[in-house]
Amino acid sequence: MSDAKRKPVALVTGGAQGIGRAITGALLQQGWQVMMADIDGEAGTECIHRYDSLGKVAFQPVDISQEDQVRQLMQATQEELGPISLLVNNAGLSSPFTGALEDLDLSTWQRYLDVNLTGVFLCCKHAANQLRETQGSIINLASTRALQSEPDTEAYSASKGGVLALTHALAMSLGPDVRVNSISPGWIEVGDWQKTSSSFQPFHSDEDHEQHPVGRIGKPDDIAGLVLWLASDLAGFVTGQNFVVDGGMSRKMVYKAD
Ligand code: NAD
Repeated sequence: MSDAKRKPVALVTGGAQGIGRAITGALLQQGWQVMMADIDGEAGTECIHRYDSLGKVAFQPVDISQEDQVRQLMQATQEELGPISLLVNNAGLSSPFTGALEDLDLSTWQRYLDVNLTGVFLCCKHAANQLRETQGSIINLASTRALQSEPDTEAYSASKGGVLALTHALAMSLGPDVRVNSISPGWIEVGDWQKTSSSFQPFHSDEDHEQHPVGRIGKPDDIAGLVLWLASDLAGFVTGQNFVVDGGMSRKMVYKAD
């Protein structure tokens, strides 16, 4: 196929489950080719079958914290689909709670930083040449926990704070060729977006929903919609920014009642 006819290529890390799976599906529906990169081979294989009819989708198993694997992922993507126009750094250890500070093992702290922060750096580093060639863009998944906290979330919160800083640093280094932005989701329910063997039907109380100014908990498609916009030419003047998508939760002033 000639380059002019080739559909643009997106690489979505952690693209086989949760928010990443919704992003994969939304991009395919908008005519992108998608490389899903995920550490979970079972989820990746299942996702290929699920989305095959939507367009050209491929799967590559990878641990994004391992530089050799990331380098190989970028080469394989270019060979199989073409140069990358969109990198969505979505993969992450998504549970924020790691226990009391005094009991937090160095190995747990290090693993959160390795996956959630170093993994983003490695993917950007090894996709940069392709993204410059295509004048593409990067979208990093951070979290509202980069901006505010509950107790016992030090490793997760620090890793996501790093993603915010890395995002604006990358926007300066890669501009004007490549735009770089981040999305900070709030509470997004992903229980029914996992591979079949670990998927479950979530239950939420009225209180869970009503504490959000929009009146409900978030869905993976709430994030996928913003990814589509940020990846498009409509966002051509937007770089180095962080977009909070949390149903207004972090804008709510909280006073303890007597
Ligand atoms: P999820 O656990 O449902 O999906 C994460 C995916 O990443 C999985 O498919 C997993 O296999 C993959 N993954 C994990 N470690 C990996 C590694 N080392 N290499 C490659 N793939 C790996 O999580 P989610 O809730 O969909 O979260 C997606 C992103 O959004 C994460 O970065 C998370 O921190 C962020 N986020 C989620 C929420 C939420 O409420 N769901 C809120 C804020 C931020």
